[in-house]
Amino acid sequence: MTARPDLGPPPNLGYTGSRIDRAALLRADDAALSDLGRDPRARFYLIGGELVVMKISGDTCDPLFTAEDVKSFGDARETVFLGLLDGAPRFGIGLEAAAVEPLKTRADLKVTDLRTIAVHGLVAADHLPPLAEAKAMLGWHARHRFCPNCGAPTRPVEGGWRRDCPSCKVQHFPRTDPVVIMLPIDGERCVLGRSPRFAPTMWSCLAGFAEPGETIEEAVRREVIEEVGLTCGKVKYFTSQPWPFPTSLMIGCHAQALSREIVVDRSELEDARWFDREEVALMLLRKHPDGLTATPPLAIAHHIIRSYIENGSDVLR
Ligand SMILES: [Zn+2]
Repeated sequence: MTARPDLGPPPNLGYTGSRIDRAALLRADDAALSDLGRDPRARFYLIGGELVVMKISGDTCDPLFTAEDVKSFGDARETVFLGLLDGAPRFGIGLEAAAVEPLKTRADLKVTDLRTIAVHGLVAADHLPPLAEAKAMLGWHARHRFCPNCGAPTRPVEGGWRRDCPSCKVQHFPRTDPVVIMLPIDGERCVLGRSPRFAPTMWSCLAGFAEPGETIEEAVRREVIEEVGLTCGKVKYFTSQPWPFPTSLMIGCHAQALSREIVVDRSELEDARWFDREEVALMLLRKHPDGLTATPPLAIAHHIIRSYIENGSDVLR
């Protein structure tokens, strides 16, 4: 492949580019937070487990509720101060999953998961980053009700950005789990894999959790060996993406493949193989003769692959 292919304008990377100022200094100021909660401009995202509650508004949905609306849904399990949008307070409200289930039958509401919302563009794109922030934070609260140190019930403080244990006094902070996601490259070829969960025609990057005690580069090399048996040399960071399922940070990389023979770990992947750069370009353009596709633009894998198609092995420079 010689000329740089025209893949069209670069698509948005999902859940990124938040316009919200997290205003972290306000988190410790209980009086200020209380005032912000009563501010007439305050709006609330409602989440119960994996589900987001939204108002149906014409062809799309509005995921923001007023304080008055929120009261009608019953007691909030947790509230997280997300920040300020042009000075207007934004909060995430966690509802009991059981309280959300009956809302599915209401004609004025749409209750669905965040992936569906993102894939089908059910809300204005500006809402995706704060929804990701709210979902990850409220999911963290739901899974950290008890102190991992002593087992006592913990309580949320600092606008929902910390949980304290009243018994052993340990403070618990929300976590983000690093996942490396990478494209091994050998000149004009790269390796894509398929998870059994994927749509039948879709191929994507390899990925796995970074482990304690390793660098991003080491995690990339280990995951590539484990999943497809290839040795990698140089690893180049590309970009990252919050992935609130439940609380991951995807760390996108390109990797220089040093060996050629693929041995697929069938416990992780359905298949993996080398693809020519030109073939992958057709997959991105949805013009592949066999109908094969790459991950859609919402996900970081699309952007990692696209950068390689546009720039070739220069991505490793
Ligand atoms: Zn404790």
